[in-house]
Amino acid sequence: MSDNGDLDRTKIELRGVGKRFERHRQEPLTVLDSVDLTVAEKGFLSIVGPSGSGKSTLLFMIAGLEAPTSGEVLVEGQPIKGPSADRGVVFQEDAIFPWRTVRRNVEYGLALRGVPKQERRERVDRYLELVKLTGFEGLYPRQLSGGMKKRVAIAEVLVNEPQVLLLDEPFGALDYVTKISLQEELGRIWQRARLTTVMVTHDIEEALFLSDRVVVLRDGGLRYDVTVPFERPRPHELRNEPRFTELKERLWSEIGPAARSAPVVENQA
Ligand code: ADP
Ligand code: MG
Repeated sequence: MSDNGDLDRTKIELRGVGKRFERHRQEPLTVLDSVDLTVAEKGFLSIVGPSGSGKSTLLFMIAGLEAPTSGEVLVEGQPIKGPSADRGVVFQEDAIFPWRTVRRNVEYGLALRGVPKQERRERVDRYLELVKLTGFEGLYPRQLSGGMKKRVAIAEVLVNEPQVLLLDEPFGALDYVTKISLQEELGRIWQRARLTTVMVTHDIEEALFLSDRVVVLRDGGLRYDVTVPFERPRPHELRNEPRFTELKERLWSEIGPAARSAPVVENQA
């Protein structure tokens, strides 16, 4: 992506980041061991890896929801002290209130921060339009499909106009068709908003379809780092092209069972 000078600026930096969990009556668990990573401004980075490899832990540190046990996490060169509306997080489980309408859910964060009513209304309208929920403002979560709830969760974050978007397995709980269409929506939204994005997923295809860079997290560290060269907007058919499936195979070989299991030695006399 050398056509965009912005991509050369570092937005987020992890320097020698380690994370160790103390556990009751068990040895401490080291999840991350001295991870170094930079995320380019306005880039879309995905972190893939097997379940339990520490993906959420890493993302939560960037969100400011977890602190590293060693090293540091910086945004614009400043250490992260805690969560901020500047770094919006979309979780796998949607953070929406069942007793509030779509509009009231999306405006909640703005209301908390004292944004005046008129501005709130305009911003909510703008972001509901972006996620294609115009006309559904008055509905309650129970009246929405899983895909629509996910759109609400995305609007809730984007309405704060964050500088960084963090996504943790955002479409993991959705059915296949809804997931594919929301991936396409997210690609479109990201292209319009162009905010620095870090997504964690176990879904290699999702990572490749959306990102401009994918890193593999395994055994406590980053094991593979690849630039995704596909132009945007990315059509659905891209998923079946050899250049896509080859990269998918390559990533699979880095995180799949073959990468994880030690060689089997048989018949040791
Ligand atoms: P992933 O998102 O890649 O599936 P996580 O980051 O959620 O992995 O977890 C990595 C490992 O750390 C897992 O073994 C998990 O059980 C463990 N872990 C996560 N949070 C805690 C915690 N607060 N205390 C103890 N262990 C934890
Ligand atoms: Mg996770």
